[in-house]
Amino acid sequence: MDRRRFFTSASLGGGLLFHPQLFSNFSMTSTKIQSIENKFPLAISTWNNIKASRVAGESLEQNADALTSAINGVAVEEANQTNRSVGYGGAPDRSGKVTLDACIMDSTGNCGSVMAVENVVHVAALARDVMEKTPHVILTGNGARKFAIQQGYQTVDLLTSESHQLWLEWLQNEQFKPVINAGNHDTIGMLCIDKSNHVAGACTTSGLAYKMEGRVGDSPIIGSGLYIDNEIGGAVATGLGEEVIKTVGSFLIVELIRQGLSPQEACEKAIERIVKGRKNLDFQVAYLAVNKKGDIGAYSIHKGFTYAQYKNGQTKEIRSDSVY
Ligand code: ASP
Repeated sequence: MDRRRFFTSASLGGGLLFHPQLFSNFSMTSTKIQSIENKFPLAISTWNNIKASRVAGESLEQNADALTSAINGVAVEEANQTNRSVGYGGAPDRSGKVTLDACIMDSTGNCGSVMAVENVVHVAALARDVMEKTPHVILTGNGARKFAIQQGYQTVDLLTSESHQLWLEWLQNEQFKPVINAGNHDTIGMLCIDKSNHVAGACTTSGLAYKMEGRVGDSPIIGSGLYIDNEIGGAVATGLGEEVIKTVGSFLIVELIRQGLSPQEACEKAIERIVKGRKNLDFQVAYLAVNKKGDIGAYSIHKGFTYAQYKNGQTKEIRSDSVY
């Protein structure tokens, strides 16, 4: 389906004026309280992952908490074999192995992460299990896979025949170049605010297509691919992970919001940190952020970045501004 058909206005950062906590000291009629509470829930995700955002939104509407809903949302793309950057059907590394990275962070500041996991589709849920069922924050590779099996996850071959075919074609040239805005999908980073105004998020990816064996990007690294502070808001990243890691992008954005910037201004500052003084910008990085009030920011180096938003029962794709 043509991505442009989803495009709506380019309005970014058009925030909500009210949220329940601001009014906790006021006495109001139940109708008014109800209408303010209806400003949430909110679910936003990187790229045109409309279905994932809708699933997260519906989960929030059914009173699920922000973390559960973010994981429910990203699970749609993890299982979608046509998405070549996430989960089942994701692009393999140079050796032909599909290895997945994911992390999650909840509204209490707890987090979990898995890196370079083979044979498991729902790695965001696995990252939550690491957080809840182990004394650790990160499990990698075979250890993460073994833990998944212990927890009852099914193992599957993540390399579909289509991804295998594309890898064989890539092998003919073996050119390793990060491609800007490759395809319609990329890493999915999801931020949710639930009806209690709690913020949480999930980030899940197969990483850069044809990466070196063992390479891990920003997506499973708390503070780089994802960061949440329930007092402030949250941020997620997509694009060339090496550049996000060097600037600890998602943490930077949340800290800039703490200092008084809007999510939009914070995303722009974080991108500026990457592009400043650089001549060679043949890669993409994009950020998506939200504050506690539900104001949204999105910004990327190159044009083409969009995000999917669920709010007030509606899901739409919104185009981000960019440096170029
Ligand atoms: N950030 C991911 C990585 O570097 C790639 C992506 O967003 O497509 O692994």
